Amino acid sequence: MESYAPCPNCRGGNLYSTQKDVSAGGGYAPNYLPGLGGMFAAEKFRVVVCADCGLTRFFARSSAMEELASSSKWKQV
Ligand SMILES: [Zn+2]
Repeated sequence: MESYAPCPNCRGGNLYSTQKDVSAGGGYAPNYLPGLGGMFAAEKFRVVVCADCGLTRFFARSSAMEELASSSKWKQV
């Protein structure tokens, strides 16, 4: 299991993660991970919220991270 603590904003450890990965786009919502994952389904990510300060973070799956370098939708910064 990944370690998300401590919170990068408040340094707290009172963190919660979605039980299942959440769709990164689709329908009328913007696609936050374009070009990654399958052609017909939006990629998913894990959402982690700090219960002390409210900072909300999104973590891409390892399969999506592997696609970043070769995807035309992404550029390294
Ligand atoms: Zn926090």
